[in-house]
Amino acid sequence: MGGSRSGRYGRHHRVEHYPQLNVRELAGVGFLHSLVLHNTWHQFEIAARIEMTEIDGEHRITIDIKQPERGIFGCTVWLIRRPMRFGGARSFFKCPFCSRPCEALFIYRGAFRCRICADLKYLSQTRDPLSRQHDAIAKLRGRLASDDEKPKRMRWATYDAILDKMSGRQQRLDSVWLASIPKSLMCRLFPE
Ligand SMILES: [Zn+2]
Repeated sequence: MGGSRSGRYGRHHRVEHYPQLNVRELAGVGFLHSLVLHNTWHQFEIAARIEMTEIDGEHRITIDIKQPERGIFGCTVWLIRRPMRFGGARSFFKCPFCSRPCEALFIYRGAFRCRICADLKYLSQTRDPLSRQHDAIAKLRGRLASDDEKPKRMRWATYDAILDKMSGRQQRLDSVWLASIPKSLMCRLFPE
C-alpha cells in the first residue's frame, strides 16, 4: 500500500472500525443453544442469531449476521475448548481462515476473521487497558508452541513463569472486560 491516502489514519485498519464477536459474550450467557445477540457496540447495528450444536464432542456455532449495509450472511465457526492450567476450561473461536484459537472474530469484508487475519491493529494501545492485556497475553503466547504447549527447548521453569504471567494478565483482562461492558448490553447478557 502506501501513497498519500495511507497516512491519514495510519497504515492499518483498526479493531475499533469493525464489528466483533467476542467469545466472552457467548460464555457470559452460558452457551445457550440458541441466542439472539444484538451487538450495538461502537455504533455497529448488527443482529446475530447464534446456534450452537455439538458433534462428537466438538462444538460448532452457526452464526447468521444481519448487517444493514450487507444484508444477511451466515458462517459456521468451530469452538475450541482448552483446559486451564489451574482447572476449568476456556473457549476460543477457531478462526475460519488460519485455525488459530482466538477470543474475538471480526466481520471484515463479509466474513469472520481473527484480528491477525484481518490485519487489524488496536487504536490506542497506550490508553486502552483491555487492549494492553490482550497484547501482553498474545506476546506471551507467541513464545509458546501451538496449543500453549512448551516449546521443545524451553526450560520448564521458564514455561511455568510464562503460564503464570498469562494467568495474571487473564485475571486483569477479566476484570477490565467486565468493567467495560456497556450497561445496556450487560442487562441482556446477564439478566437479573
Ligand atoms: Zn485467523
